[in-house]
Order: sequence, then structure tokens, then C-alpha cells
Amino acid sequence: MSEILVLVEQVEGEVKKVTLELLTLARSLGTPAAVWAGPGITAEAKSRLAEHGADKIYVASSGDIVDYVVAPKAELLAQLVAGKSPAAVLVAATAEGKEIAGRLAVKTDSGVITDAVGLGEGFVADQSIFGGGVNVRSKVSKGTPIFAVRPNSTAPVASTGAGAEEEVSVTLSDSAKAARIVERVKQEKGARPELTEAAIVVSGGRGVGSAENFSVIEGLADALGAAVGASRAATDAGWYPHQFQVGQTGKTVSPQLYIAAGISGAIQHRAGMQTAKTIVAINKDPEAPIFELADYGVVGDLHQVVPQLTEEVNKRK
Ligand SMILES: Cc1cc2nc3c(=O)[nH]c(=O)nc-3n(C[C@H](O)[C@H](O)[C@H](O)COP(=O)(O)OP(=O)(O)OC[C@H]3O[C@@H](n4cnc5c(N)ncnc54)[C@H](O)[C@@H]3O)c2cc1C
Repeated sequence: MSEILVLVEQVEGEVKKVTLELLTLARSLGTPAAVWAGPGITAEAKSRLAEHGADKIYVASSGDIVDYVVAPKAELLAQLVAGKSPAAVLVAATAEGKEIAGRLAVKTDSGVITDAVGLGEGFVADQSIFGGGVNVRSKVSKGTPIFAVRPNSTAPVASTGAGAEEEVSVTLSDSAKAARIVERVKQEKGARPELTEAAIVVSGGRGVGSAENFSVIEGLADALGAAVGASRAATDAGWYPHQFQVGQTGKTVSPQLYIAAGISGAIQHRAGMQTAKTIVAINKDPEAPIFELADYGVVGDLHQVVPQLTEEVNKRK
């Protein structure tokens, strides 16, 4: 079977969950080959990749790859596409992943599908387009198909692969070195899961009422082991930091469960969350548009409903 290249997302040597999801998807389509870009691969990372089906691990350990913004990773993948002729390339549909996918498509004269939420036989992708307003099934008709797949599109399933390591040396062009990273500032990470990767997201909107009241949303999130999100109305009001905004101009999430509390369901908010597998809306207005796309709806005051829900969840632990 042909190789499917999977670009590894990692932070300080720790493989991110989305990569395990991509390896799982790749297994159903061919032979997964992980691509590690940059220095710092650990024995633990290698076994994690192999345990999720990576038959090969291409390691491009040159520091140059991570010293410059985005372009080197696209060049590395383009080099591998030319040398290994994979059947497809999968990257995570993060901001960086989508940019890499686009650049790689230009370099290899191939078609690219971004924001895929599923990938099946014949490399047909389920794709969320027009800001999430329309779902289509798409297929690349030119070159090596490149897919940027949203986190949580599939559950990671372990399956042992050979994990054979192959060192790759990459020659970067001058243009790939046009923007150098001069400083990295580590963001303090709380105990909650990362918003775009979380299996459950609890979001609050204008209906939450104040920054202090967001503790109600956080309480439910913590009971469920979820990430906290917010509508733009809530972030613009300064009630919750902008990095947690979900929507067209915020983060795109695709969790198993999305709970929207005090959020009306504006099209720009939907764009960031409507591919969630199950959507629960809590809103005091029965006519709120969010109920049109919710799988379950509770008409009521979130300040009463959410604490009761939190209590029930905690009782069952
Ligand atoms: C170019 C552009 C980009 C945008 N990008 C984004 C984006 O990325 N993300 C985003 O979210 N928005 C975005 N917006 C804004 C978007 O149009 C909406 O204004 C915003 O989503 C509204 O947020 P909300 O639902 O929290 O507030 P509202 O629309 O004001 O809704 C509040 C809801 O809370 C309910 N409510 C009030 N009190 C309670 C209570 N006690 N209990 C239960 N329910 C209650 C109300 O019934 C209402 O339905 C964008 C807009 C533009 C023009």
C-alpha cells in the first residue's frame, strides 16, 4: 500500500493528540508515515507514533526547520512528496497546518482540501466550507491529495506500526528563510485541555452577564474535563480572553460535545462550532437560532441550569 504522509504536531517533543487521529485516519487509506519536522524527537515520541500505526518516521532534525516561519515545513513535505511519491499528505487543520497545506499544494501543483472533518475511501473528504455554512464531499483531482483535517474528526485508535526511522536532510531555499522567529514566549497552560483539541467544549456568551459569572461556565467545564470557549460578544466585553473565542474570527472547534450557554447562535459563531458531533444549547429564549442546530436544548436561565448540571455531573463521578 502507498504511504500516507502525516505531519507531526508536537510541543517540546510531546506528540499532540491530533497527530494520533491523523495516523488513525491514514491507516484506513494506506501505510502511515509520520514526518517529524525539527530537532528534539524523543524515544517516547517515536514509540507513541509507532503505537498509533506509523510504519515509517521521517525525521528532519535540522534546527533551520523550526527557526523560520511555516515555509520550511512546506519545503520539507514537498521534498518528501517528490522523493517518496506518497498517496496523500495529511496535516492538522490548525492555522499553521492550513498554511503549510496551501504552500505545499502550490509547490507540488496539487489539489488541497482544508477543514476536512472526515476522510474515506477513494480519498473523499467531508468538508465544512463557507464559514461552516455548507458541508460537502470533496475529492482532489490533481497531483498528490493534501488534506488539512480538523482535530477531533476521528478518535485515535492504537495499532502497532514498525516505526522505522529514516533521517531526512532538507535543503531550504532562501525564500523559506525570509521570516525568522526571533523569540518564543511560552503561554501559561492551565489544567484544562487545549480548546481546539478538546473532546468537550463548554462555551459562554453574552447571556453569562459578566466576567465573574464565567466561573459558572468554568465549573461545568471542569466537571466534564472540558475546555472553555466564549462567543465574541463575551470576549469583546472583556469577560473572557480573546484566545478562547470560538467562531469565524476565533478558533474552530469540532469536539464530540459542545455546550453553548447564553449564546444566540449567530452565523459567525456557528462557523466555529457547527461540526461538533453533539450540540447542547442552554438559552432562556426559545426562539434563539442556536436551537435550530442543537441536538439537545434547554430553555432556561443558564445561571440556574448550568450549576444544576455541574452538580449532577459531579455526583456521578
Ligand atoms: C465579521 C464578523 C465576525 C464575527 N466573528 C465572530 C466569532 O468568531 N465568534 C462569535 O461568537 N461571534 C462573532 N461575531 C459576532 C456575532 O455576529 C454575534 O454578535 C455574536 O456571536 C453574539 O454573541 P452571543 O451569542 O454571546 O450574544 P447575543 O447574540 O447577544 O446572544 C446572547 C444570548 O444569550 C441569551 N441569554 C441572555 N441571558 C441569558 C440567561 N441568563 N440564560 C440563558 N440565556 C441567556 C439570549 O437569549 C441570547 O440568545 C462576528 C461578527 C462579525 C460581523
